[in-house]
Amino acid sequence: MTKPMGPIPARYAAGKDGTLHVAGRSVAALVAEAGGTPLFVYDLAAVAAQIRRFRSAFPGVQLHYAIKANSYANLLSFIESKVDGLDIASAGEMEAALAVAAADRISFAGPGKTDAELEAAVRAGVTLNIESEAEAERALAAAGRLGVTPRLAVRVNPDFELRGSGMRMGGGARPFGVDAEHVPALVRRLRGGGADWRGFHIFAGSQALSADALIEAQRATVALAAELAKAAGAPPRLVNLGGGFGIPYFHGEQPLDVEAVGAALGKILAARPAILADSVFAIELGRWLVGEAGVYVTRIVDRKVSRGKVFLVTDGGMHHQLAASGNFGQVVRRNYPVAVASRFAAGPDERVSVVGCLCTPLDRLADDVLMPRAEAGDLVAVFLAGAYGLSASPQAFLGHPPAREIAVGG
Ligand SMILES: *Cc1c(COP(=O)(O)O)cnc(C)c1O
Repeated sequence: MTKPMGPIPARYAAGKDGTLHVAGRSVAALVAEAGGTPLFVYDLAAVAAQIRRFRSAFPGVQLHYAIKANSYANLLSFIESKVDGLDIASAGEMEAALAVAAADRISFAGPGKTDAELEAAVRAGVTLNIESEAEAERALAAAGRLGVTPRLAVRVNPDFELRGSGMRMGGGARPFGVDAEHVPALVRRLRGGGADWRGFHIFAGSQALSADALIEAQRATVALAAELAKAAGAPPRLVNLGGGFGIPYFHGEQPLDVEAVGAALGKILAARPAILADSVFAIELGRWLVGEAGVYVTRIVDRKVSRGKVFLVTDGGMHHQLAASGNFGQVVRRNYPVAVASRFAAGPDERVSVVGCLCTPLDRLADDVLMPRAEAGDLVAVFLAGAYGLSASPQAFLGHPPAREIAVGG
């Protein structure tokens, strides 16, 4: 039986030669320029278009980029020049962020920050989003040792969830953030301890495609921020509302109506409680900004038939694209959009499965999909590879060569 694939983003089309073109250039030419496959191609114009779309949908709201989605240096510096801040979650990401951004544009969230990470962040002037009371004490102690005023925000574990999100990161019992009911006391402790208290960070989930669910979460987030500020007796300078904007990966999924979310947030903010009157609001996005901008290009090494089933064996795989293989948080494996890039304009001829070169049955890029007939040497593209591609894959697994990356257009 043939299985469906997710939607190929509309911006990708065939050139006159019938092959896939990205930013006006054939994928084969990009592979030649980069020196071979496997290759991640990032279309900067696609990222810029998303940023413009956000700006017009959310006037007056700051945009942060969560760099764990993709920290490829050329992409990161491009995005940094167009957003209001970078959100990081490790010392390694801090190094990448500080290479392109001023410290006061960077905030550092994530559980399990070590003393060395806290100290490095405080020394650099990066804002720490505090994840627990114990971490707050360690951050204050690090600042005391260094003799500087730390910039500290409190990450709140809200008492609600982002409905329909692919990965829930707030509500109930969580390793992330401080339970909302303990936040006012912690804010008082930080301010009393000499910190420069920057505000709240409330992130409820990821990969949401429902505008209604996001609107509901943002309404609850603004209300919670106001309630916590009142209880703490201090207005927050910044309220980071989280993000969680999703993109459609699979057959039948509909894109998020970002304009509806923006219009609703505009109304929510216009009617916000007085204690938030002077607060700045930010939304932090990873996937939605860069996901559709990435194409993972691999070359077919072998075409084989096993008991009647055609396998296209490529030189790429799950070590670069864990999510497309179905092993990054999915319960049931479904197909990402995949195509034969070197025959992009051709119609479907046969049912095939596309696999990677790793010696494990987990390494699948597409199962039982309809494709034009392809041979060894043809290029296969996996779309939606811009977010949580290489950054979220076990590249060392099985010791194959690292993927190449190239940013084009913009
Ligand atoms: C992962 C993460 C993000 C980015 O999520 P996306 O779904 O990629 O937009 C934002 N904020 C925090 C705190 C995160 O952990």
